[in-house]
Amino acid sequence: MEYGKINSIQTLGTLDGPGVRFVVFLQGCPLRCGYCHNPETQDLLGGTSFSSDEIINKAIRYREYFGTNGGITLSGGEPLLQPDFCAEIFEKAHQNGINTCLDTSGCIINEAVERLIDLTDYVMLDIKFTNKQDYKEYVGCSMSVPLEFLQMLQRKGKTVRLRQVIVPTLNDNEENILRLSQIANEFSCVEKIELLPFKKLCKSKYDALNREFLFEKFETPTKQEIAVLQEKLNSSIK
Ligand code: SF4
Repeated sequence: MEYGKINSIQTLGTLDGPGVRFVVFLQGCPLRCGYCHNPETQDLLGGTSFSSDEIINKAIRYREYFGTNGGITLSGGEPLLQPDFCAEIFEKAHQNGINTCLDTSGCIINEAVERLIDLTDYVMLDIKFTNKQDYKEYVGCSMSVPLEFLQMLQRKGKTVRLRQVIVPTLNDNEENILRLSQIANEFSCVEKIELLPFKKLCKSKYDALNREFLFEKFETPTKQEIAVLQEKLNSSIK
C-alpha cells in the first residue's frame, strides 16, 4: 500500500473541478510561484502521512454528495511529486465508482505520472503565463514542460480545463489573452479556460513562515476586470 504526504483535506469543495468534490491537498511542490496562495504546502518535509486506503475511506463517506459529475480531486502543493500514491487513490476511487480529477501545474513528466494520468478523468492544468521569461522568473520552471504535459493529455484523450491567475501589469493584457486562446484552439482536449484573480489573503501565511511575499506589490484585479478578460478570451476560442 502506498503512503503519501497530505497538507489538508476539504470535504465538500465546489471550486476544484466539476460538481461537489472531496479535495485532497498534497504536500510538496517543486515550483515557487510568486503568487502561491498555499506556501505552507511547498515543503515536502511538512504535512501528515496517510495511506491511500485512509484517503479513499474518508472520500467514500461523502459519495452521496458527489452527484453525477463530482468526485475526488487531488490538488496541492503538486500531486505529480507523489504519482504512485495518487495513482493508487484514483485506482481505488474508480473501484468505488468515484470520478477522479487532478489539479496540477504540469511541471513533471515521467512514467509514473503518465500512469496517474491514465487513471484521471478530468485535468485542471495551470498555464501560469504565456511567455518564457515570466515562467522562468515568477514560476521557476520552463514553459515548455506544461505545454508538453498538455500534449500528453491531448494524446491520451483527456478532458482539460486550463487555469490562469491574472496579476495586474504582468498578464492582464490582450497579448496574453490572445496567446491563451491560441493554446486552447490548438488543443481540442481543452474544454474551457478559467481566469482567476490574484489575491493577497495569503500574506499572513508568508509572515507565519517568516518568508517575504514577493507579490505584495501587485494589485488585486476587480471582478469586472476579470470578467472583461474572460469575455475576450471566450470570444476568441473556436
Ligand atoms: S504550483 Fe501551486 S503550490 Fe506550487 S508554488 Fe505554484 S501555486 Fe504554489
